[in-house]
Amino acid sequence: MNTKFIFMTGGVVSSLGKGLTMASLGLLLESRGLKISVLKLDPYLNIDPGTMNPFQHGEVFVTDDGAETDLDLGHYHRFTNAIISKKSNATSGQIYDSVLKKERKGDYLGSTVQVIPHITDEIKSRIKDSYASQKDIDVVLIEIGGTVGDIESLPFLEAIRQFKHEHSGDCINIHLTYVPYLKAAGELKTKPTQHSVQVLREIGIIPDLILCRCENPLPQDIKEKISLFCSVDVSSVFDEPDIDTTIYEVPIKLSEEKLDQKVFELLKLPLQPSNTTKWDEMLFKQKNPKQCCTIAIIGKYIAHQDAYKSVFEALNHAAFENETNLTILPIDVESLCDDDAIEKALENVNAVLIPGGFGARGFENMILVAKYCRENTLPYFGICLGMQILAIEFARHVLDLKDANSTEIAKNTPHPVIALLSEQEVITNLGGSMRLGSYECSLKKGSQTHNIYKLDEITERHRHRYEFNALYKEKFEEKGLIMAGTLKNNFLCEILENSNHPWMIGVQFHPEFVSKPTKAHPLFIDFVKTALKVKCSPKLQMAARFE
Ligand code: GLN
Repeated sequence: MNTKFIFMTGGVVSSLGKGLTMASLGLLLESRGLKISVLKLDPYLNIDPGTMNPFQHGEVFVTDDGAETDLDLGHYHRFTNAIISKKSNATSGQIYDSVLKKERKGDYLGSTVQVIPHITDEIKSRIKDSYASQKDIDVVLIEIGGTVGDIESLPFLEAIRQFKHEHSGDCINIHLTYVPYLKAAGELKTKPTQHSVQVLREIGIIPDLILCRCENPLPQDIKEKISLFCSVDVSSVFDEPDIDTTIYEVPIKLSEEKLDQKVFELLKLPLQPSNTTKWDEMLFKQKNPKQCCTIAIIGKYIAHQDAYKSVFEALNHAAFENETNLTILPIDVESLCDDDAIEKALENVNAVLIPGGFGARGFENMILVAKYCRENTLPYFGICLGMQILAIEFARHVLDLKDANSTEIAKNTPHPVIALLSEQEVITNLGGSMRLGSYECSLKKGSQTHNIYKLDEITERHRHRYEFNALYKEKFEEKGLIMAGTLKNNFLCEILENSNHPWMIGVQFHPEFVSKPTKAHPLFIDFVKTALKVKCSPKLQMAARFE
């Protein structure tokens, strides 16, 4: 059987949830026995999102092989079993970069290098390359970022038009649009969808299936109207209404609509029975919590709802596992400028998580938060920057190393407890040059973290330039801050834990990137489990938190 291809474009407006919808479809195809691969094509010119401000782009999702990719890849990871690697995300920047490098090498000698055919050929070869190293892929799902009609997505649309022409019978185009309800007129409006399909048709792409995002289910006559005006069979017009429960319900809703069955039919694939048992069990746990707790995420990019996407989701997964109704309280660290503000903000919070981050803004406030958590036995989970904060706070206030700092913040600090990784000293380019991707870590036997993982060695993903300065190891350990994990066969610190605190753990890596709703991460599971034991109480009773 030939490999099949599903292309998904978006129309009308951005933020329709293309990634989530595609990931949900991927799950449904897998649940019917297909092996899938995924590719996200991003029209922007950055080589990758690694150098973009989280306020602009949201989270950067890091793969095992060290690629900094679009956060939609996180959805694919959480919903499907597809292998996510640097081949799973291509940007215009990468496409142009490789065409221009070939031009300099003389590969196109004699020809004028143009968008068509050179850029479009490169896009097509990236599509092929995205799954080439994987065996027996049945379906490749390709999501085109941006909105149809954008200037920068044109080469991608032309490339998929050509691809479909060259692989006729093996490709379908799904167009995700928006059907707004105009309150004043009391009407659903199909015109934006008609226009966006018209733009696609001008390029030579006729959608095989239209998926309409909407507030409420669409009546049949609206589907018929879209079908007529867009030349798409009415049985191929689907709606995807807003869901007010959980994003993990999206695949189930789409399968109730029989979207997956239609896709099988359009791709001329024999329909196989569906098995979503594991997913259903996870949803059941999520919907039937037995207890509740509140965890604060204290970060500097809180204003962007997707800046800590995987951290939020990893906490949710751990909550499902603990049958817990978890409230995540995002707090902008800049609002926590003194002890009073911290005490007030954390009054009803069972635990605190400080996620990754870069630069000085909010740094000192994070140290105050870590101090508060240490002194008040509030569970603290530090991820990457959060681990570095844990170390600096401990150095300043327990070891009495005044002005201890990270050299990221204070180059000439007298006590550089966090310092630039030696391999980083020679690096001048900012893009793609951090310590990235998966590394093996050995856990210290008998440590709290070892007990949580129940493993001697783990593999976790990284994205950082600075490290714990091993020269301070003994001083820290004497006072109870233990180096519970190190890079395998190396002294590089991966995990710090405070042995005088019920749960104060910092990890230099990003465990959130591997968590799945059906397979929560052990550290997050244990963190939520501990948070559940914490009593929220006024300051005077803080010492009794764990009684
Ligand atoms: N800024 C810190 C570093 O580069 C932490 C990075 C992070 O939190 N991802 O080491």
